[in-house]
Amino acid sequence: TVGAIGYGAYEIYGKRHPLEQKPFDPKKRTVVVLGSGWGAVSFLKSINTDDYNVMVVSPRNYFLFTPLLPSCTVGTIELRSIMEPIRFITQHKSRNVKFYESECTDIDPESKTISITDVSDIKGSVSNTTVHYDYLVMAVGADNQTFGMAGVREFACFLKEIWDAQKIRTRLMDCVESAGFAKQAPEEVDRLLHMVVVGGGPTGVEYAAELHDFLKDDLEVWYPELADKFRITLVEALPNVLPMFSSQLIQYTESTFKQNKIEVLTKTMVKEVADKEIKVMDANKNLVSIPYGLLVWATGNCPRPLTRKLMARIKEAQTSPRGILVDDYMRVAGAPDIYAIGDCTFSKYAPTAQVATQQGLYLASVFENLARIEEGQNKKITPFEYSHQGSLAYIGSDKAIADLPFLNGNVSVGGVATYVFWRSVYISNMFSFRNRFLVVGDWMKSKVFGRDVSR
Ligand code: FAD
Ligand code: MG
Ligand code: MG
Ligand code: MG
Ligand code: MG
Repeated sequence: TVGAIGYGAYEIYGKRHPLEQKPFDPKKRTVVVLGSGWGAVSFLKSINTDDYNVMVVSPRNYFLFTPLLPSCTVGTIELRSIMEPIRFITQHKSRNVKFYESECTDIDPESKTISITDVSDIKGSVSNTTVHYDYLVMAVGADNQTFGMAGVREFACFLKEIWDAQKIRTRLMDCVESAGFAKQAPEEVDRLLHMVVVGGGPTGVEYAAELHDFLKDDLEVWYPELADKFRITLVEALPNVLPMFSSQLIQYTESTFKQNKIEVLTKTMVKEVADKEIKVMDANKNLVSIPYGLLVWATGNCPRPLTRKLMARIKEAQTSPRGILVDDYMRVAGAPDIYAIGDCTFSKYAPTAQVATQQGLYLASVFENLARIEEGQNKKITPFEYSHQGSLAYIGSDKAIADLPFLNGNVSVGGVATYVFWRSVYISNMFSFRNRFLVVGDWMKSKVFGRDVSR
């Protein structure tokens, strides 16, 4: 405790009194980092700015702690608590790190330049320009997979960014208040209070779990007349949810969901998305219509437009439609001096924060070694090796599941103790003392006062 307080005090002091930084050095090479998510931030935290000029381009000027985003959709945690300004992260570097809040719209590997655009509402007289790089680190993450289905972008909510969580929270309360509107027809009440989640991966499961807690703990209390009308349905095309977990934990999750009255429709494919209903092909190959009030779409990743554009420029080497092909050193095939990490790549690992973080850390060490080799030192650059620390997911009513590598095997645990573990893992992985303080505060606040039901 004394250590934690001491560290906190040190961190607060450091944040408010940043050290003076060296300016860019024209003799050093410039590394341009695209993105401010898990991969980019992990790289930025460990890159040695004595060796390089570092510039960051990202449309958002903060890092987002995605594992706790589902908790923000129901107000267990507030959004600002899981955001960390990118400048808090770069201000401790020995050399100034330039940050441009903008989107990279094109990469030209021939001239080693990128095009950047200020995509925010307020722009100065210059909002488009090009920037030169010596090395480029692509960490732009991925887009939401819609399978090209019409209506998804228009009617469903994704769950990836801050604004997605805000939109879900607002829409949910809108549905509840509209269901309570005077003389609402019973079937319309049923529709409005039916929350449908598409996708049985960790994001879809954790969202359904948080939603269940919110219904039980808060909405049923504040809206007693609607209490028995709330319904949650999870739709998954595969035979079971959470394919990355052990079969024991899949069963545990499915039975917990059953107890919590979350209906799980497996082997069910969404065929059509309209404003008030989806049409699905069920396990018996029948086309069924499911009316909904809120639709949350969490079916995984697909490459962003920028990623596809770069792959098209070097298409002889980029043969996978699913993401950028990199070698064991995170170098982009077909583009010298471009590296790619995290969800924008197509690799043998799952697209997780855990992978992106390890790749970012690894790449910073590669850059460190390159600088030492250039000085004449004898350094060897070894390939990236992923070390799996386990998988965790929250499944509702204070229960979590964990698959953890242990000795030469694996342990699978689930329940309330795992939930305490889940919380402590997240808290110890939160980027700063400030975020830890905010999240713990939010948890206590929602335990004591309940969650806020204002729209
Ligand atoms: P991101 O973190 O998505 O970062 C991409 C960055 O690039 C963003 O800053 C974005 O603004 C920026 N960007 C986008 N386009 C451009 C452009 N054109 N130019 C410049 N910058 C651009 N993983 C786990 O390991 N454990 C979990 O518990 C977990 N929970 C999750 C829960 C949710 C709700 C979600 C959505 C994901 C979760 N993940 C989890 C997965 C994890 O968040 C991703 O794997 C991780 O974010 C990938 O890191 P990244 O750096 O590749 O991409
Ligand atoms: Mg990133
Ligand atoms: Mg992120
Ligand atoms: Mg702006
Ligand atoms: Mg309304």
